[in-house]
Amino acid sequence: MRYAIALAAVAIAFAARFVVASVLKDQAPYLFFLPAVLLAAGAGGFGPGVLATSLSVPLVFFFIANYRAVGWTEVANGAVFVLIGVGTAWIGERLRQARILALTREAHLQSIIDIVPEATIVINGHGIIQSFSATAERMFGYTAAEMIGNNVTLLMPSPFREEHDGYIKRYRDTGEQRIIGIGRVAAARRKNGSTFPIELAVGEIWSASQRFFTGFIRDLTERQETEARLQELQSELAHVSRLTEMGGMASAIAHELNQPLAAIANYLKGSRRLLDDSTGERLAMLRDAMDSAADQALRAGQIIRRMRDFVGRRESERQVEHIAKLVEEASALALVGTKDKGLRVTFDFDPRADLVLADKVQVQQVLVNLIRNAIEAMEESSERTLTVRSKPADDMMIVVQVDDTGSGISEEMAARLFQPFATTKPRGMGVGLSISRTIVEAHGGQIEAKPRPGGGTTFRFTLPAVTKEEATDAH
Ligand code: ADP
Repeated sequence: MRYAIALAAVAIAFAARFVVASVLKDQAPYLFFLPAVLLAAGAGGFGPGVLATSLSVPLVFFFIANYRAVGWTEVANGAVFVLIGVGTAWIGERLRQARILALTREAHLQSIIDIVPEATIVINGHGIIQSFSATAERMFGYTAAEMIGNNVTLLMPSPFREEHDGYIKRYRDTGEQRIIGIGRVAAARRKNGSTFPIELAVGEIWSASQRFFTGFIRDLTERQETEARLQELQSELAHVSRLTEMGGMASAIAHELNQPLAAIANYLKGSRRLLDDSTGERLAMLRDAMDSAADQALRAGQIIRRMRDFVGRRESERQVEHIAKLVEEASALALVGTKDKGLRVTFDFDPRADLVLADKVQVQQVLVNLIRNAIEAMEESSERTLTVRSKPADDMMIVVQVDDTGSGISEEMAARLFQPFATTKPRGMGVGLSISRTIVEAHGGQIEAKPRPGGGTTFRFTLPAVTKEEATDAH
């Protein structure tokens, strides 16, 4: 093939020279063959370059010989042409080798990118996708051909989609690193519109004065692979969750037992009074026994109260938090294990409600509870849309709202919703909402549930808002 190009180039040069032979006569005989040599050397390297050169010389002599006798001048000219031709062929060969090396490297890199378990996406400094690995194709459902040249925001749910260009711009302007080199859990969007949790790590590359970002993405829905990583992520949550669960259980037990205990104490005191008027040795013993029983009942009440105080003593660590970030992380955690249920998650954050004063882990616990409940309630629904929004509320509060298109709550359940041990699930504990209420109320907020117009349920809870000024004053 390379040699065929050389032959063709020389043939074309010969034909062209032949056409204009009557005008040019024996003038500039090499002019037409030089491009042929350049082309052969550039495309084919050394061999074809030399071939083109060695074919050109006799053909040039053929033209000259038509007009005058071939002398030493022509031979010298021919020798120079051969030197130039061989030199060109050599340079052409070097270029060809460099091209082959670059291609091999690229293929090599591509083969690495294709086998890393993470999806790999390269974007330029404007968020435009440059490369989209085979794993990314599987993960998102788009082909590389569809995605290359498009903005990476296509792979994000709102409102991150709208904000991403701003993030890149801010990074370009200020160099402030929010994600690069750090890695975090985020929400992503498949081609079919469903949302899934990912772990994202981003690296930056400078190449020929152009900036590129490489994103490595791990799908957190695939439980098996991510179990270890997940355990790590959830351990903190689980720890607090256990504590709060114990707290919830303790309050619940205290609540449930206090009444019967108080009743026992009262009955005993009443019976004791009835016995007061009677005399007799045995009755005196009975009176003593009743006194002791009443004391023990009171003591049991105290023990339970102390247990509750002890568990409830964990000081919550409230800090200024971005509500959008808090919600996104909690959603990603709650979404784990919900693969392929055609679930759509939309977020809607009002920019006027950005900062809250909250114990992050506790509030995420509330969100995980609400989102998990919502997902479970939508298991049988044909439309499965979960919406989490935040907006300003009265009295310097921010309201967070979780809407689902699930089964809704029966009237009978609605009355007991936030009570401990109220559940309709075969394996449910029924403490999630009661704990959520404890957490929200400890933050000075309120939580409520309402039927959602159009089906499903809306849960809303409030948290104290923090203004930007307050946040900067605090630091
Ligand atoms: P659990 O989930 O263990 O049952 P919870 O306290 O979190 O405990 O929830 C109590 C009950 O409230 C659930 O069993 C369910 O019947 C009902 N519930 C909670 N959230 C929803 C929802 N989004 N849609 C319908 N029912 C819900």
